[in-house]
Formats: sequence, C-alpha cells, structure tokens
Amino acid sequence: MSKVLIIGAGGVGGVVTHKCAQMPEIFDEICLASRTEEKCKAIAAQLKTRIQTAKVDADKPLEVVRLIKKINPDILINVALPYQDLSIMEACLATGVDYLDTANYEPPNKAKFEYKWQWKYHKAFREKGLLAVLGCGFDPGVSNIFCAYAQKHYFDEIHTVDILDCNAGSHGKAFATNFNPEINIREITARGKYWEKGQWKDTDPLSVHQTFNFPEVGPKEMYLMYHEELESLVKNIKGLKRIRFWMTFGEQYLTHLRVLENVGMTRIDPVMYEGKPVVPLKFLKAILPEPSSLGKNYKGKTNIGCMMEGIKNGKKRKIYIYNVCDHAQCWKEVKSQAISYTTGVPAAIGARMVVTGAWCDAGVFNVEQFNPDPFMEELNHYGLPWKVKHLGPGQMPVK
Ligand code: NDP
Repeated sequence: MSKVLIIGAGGVGGVVTHKCAQMPEIFDEICLASRTEEKCKAIAAQLKTRIQTAKVDADKPLEVVRLIKKINPDILINVALPYQDLSIMEACLATGVDYLDTANYEPPNKAKFEYKWQWKYHKAFREKGLLAVLGCGFDPGVSNIFCAYAQKHYFDEIHTVDILDCNAGSHGKAFATNFNPEINIREITARGKYWEKGQWKDTDPLSVHQTFNFPEVGPKEMYLMYHEELESLVKNIKGLKRIRFWMTFGEQYLTHLRVLENVGMTRIDPVMYEGKPVVPLKFLKAILPEPSSLGKNYKGKTNIGCMMEGIKNGKKRKIYIYNVCDHAQCWKEVKSQAISYTTGVPAAIGARMVVTGAWCDAGVFNVEQFNPDPFMEELNHYGLPWKVKHLGPGQMPVK
C-alpha cells in the first residue's frame, strides 16, 4: 500500500487523481495539492474515495519540502507546469521521495524545453537511491513506451519513427487549447525540428504538413513540430535513422493562432500596461477557457500513435501502434476531455510501476528506458487500449 502526493489540480491533475483512486489496492492514501486549493477540493468532491487536499506554491522548493514532510508520500506526481519541475525535483531529493512528471522543464522567460536541466540530476538521485521518471504522459510518455515495446517485440532495428498526434474532437469553442494554454502556445509557435542521419534539422513553424488517414478518425492535416520525446528517443532507440513528430490542427485553430501571433498576444516578454509589466501570453491564458472546463461538450476522438519502419530477422517491417480515445467517454468516466485523460492515465500507471517495483532503478530516466510490458498491460486495464497494425511498405505513407 502506498501514499501518493499529486501536485497540480488542472485538467491532467483531475484525471490522475481519479485514476489513482481507481487503484485502491496500490494507493490507499491520496493527497492532491495545488496553488489554488479550491480546485483540489472540487476534484476531491467528484470522488467517493477520501482525498486529502492542500495548498502549495511549487515554485518554492521549501513549501514543497514542508508539504512532503507533512504528507510523507511514497511518490510525488508532478502535473503542475514545466516551470516547477526543478523546484519539485529539488524537494524530492531533500526529502527522499520518488518523482514522476509529464513534461520537461522549460524556463519561464525563454520558450525552450530541453532535458538537460533534469538529466543533470541523475547523479544526485542515484546517490540517494531515488527514482525520477520523466515525461510519463501520452506524448511524451506512451509514445516513448510504444517505441520501447516495438524495439523489444517487433524489430531488431527501428529505422524510422513518426509520432502522430491527432485530435479530431470538437469542443464547440471558437478557440481553446487542450492543455495549459501558455505551455501549448509556446510549443506550437516554436520552430519545427526533426532528426535525420545523426543531425537535427530545423523547419519554419508549422511549414511542413501533409494529410494522413487516421484509423477510426479519417483524413486530417498534420504538421511537423519539435516535441520533447525526440530528444530522448534519439539516444535510446537502436539503429534509428530518422524520427519526426506530427500534430493535427484545424483551420479555425490555425487562423486564430496566426492572428494572436500577428498582434503580439503570444509574446512572453513583459510589456508595460498602465504602469505595470504584463506578459501578453499570460494575459491570454487568463482569458482563454481552462483545459479542465472543455470536457462537458467535447465530441469526437483522438488517435495518437507511432508509425515505425525497420528490420526483423533480415526482413523489412512496418507497424503502427496507436490508441483511440473518445472525448465523451472520458467525460462520462472522470469528467475530463481526452487530452487530459490520455496524459493523466499514463502518469497514474507510471506511479503504479514505481511503487510496485515493476520499474526499479535509481537516477533520472525517460520512460523508454524501463520494461514496457507491464505498463502496456495496464494501459489496457485503465482506459487506453492500444492496437498494432501491420502494414505493407507503401501502406499509410507518412511522406
Ligand atoms: P492546467 O493549466 O489545467 O493545470 C495546471 C495546474 O498546475 C493548475 O491547477 C495550476 O494552478 C497548477 N500550478 C501552476 N503553477 C503552480 C505552482 N507554482 N504551484 C502549484 N501549482 C501550480 O494544465 P494541464 O493540467 O492541462 O497540464 C498539466 C501538465 O501536463 C503540464 O505540465 C502540461 O505541459 C503537461 N501535459 C503533458 C502532456 C503529455 O502528453 N505528456 C499532454 C498535456 C499536458 P492554478 O489553477 O492555481 O493556476
């Protein structure tokens, strides 16, 4: 039996709390803490299980240390924002608690995410016999584990990986983001980047795109982007020659985004307004719908998966491993939309892997470095069943 401390009571935090509560044989005590305790209480009120709640500003390591000492958890799940990753990792180190997150650190004043800041903690975690699991949402997270699973069971060498992230759902709002608006818009407006033959190649933001016919969803336009799991998969997947990441966007979303960018609303540097510094993107976040509020009227499905080509027993092989998730079903089950759901379920399963010892090591690791089998099995039990499609060489091409 274990005690889990979850930090961050947003769209993802709600799902993680529900899912941990669905594992009473593993997590007999759950504490949900966040900057605004009312949001924790609102999530706790959705559940029959008793959930402890607390207020914490996770930008302040000492506040997190105090909270950890009070709660005394076996694992801390960080589903606040990437800005808090390092302060929460520091607090875990100071108190001797295992750590898990879903997004890698980025500094607030620079739209740049990279694992180097978190990988630097490897030695410190190792010396203390503690485990930090990085990027255990869907992408990063399940996308990495799909690659590890394919490497273990389907290929001797994986030559190309295309991670495809399709949200074909509709929430009925003119413009909203499916996870934290600030983090989402920073990511989407950045330059694209992919890795080929040992080198990183840059592209203009959202300039490379193509139509792909997603199983159970249909044809959608998807755009090449840089995504954080590419950085670790390049190191951890054998024989890789190229890896790319693609995400679908609708015309309406892109038109709004273009206008917001053109008028300066996506800027992250402060501008003076009536004598006070205001960061336009933070202001925009304050007026956009919260991701956790989108679920009620969301219809349609997501399809997120990995298209992989490589060699098995001297022969070419191509497969697509993917999950399809339905927004309305997520709402029915845990009062969430599918993007928060597909992120929160893997985080809860990852924590289960750590506290049960199915994933056991000391140091800082990305999820593809662990045994994928028990995790893949739990995905089927906790709401994210996956399929493997075997394809001929020219079938379902990603050009
Ligand atoms: P939300 O904005 O809905 O929630 C974030 C929560 O964190 C809010 O409740 C917020 O509090 C809280 N928070 C922010 N700053 C602090 C702080 N200093 N101290 C304590 N709590 C704080 O975001 P999401 O739930 O959509 O996303 C959560 C995380 O999941 C993000 O890091 C995001 O990047 C990641 N993610 C990962 C995905 C993956 O597949 N790997 C996909 C989607 C998201 P308050 O309400 O007071 O603002």
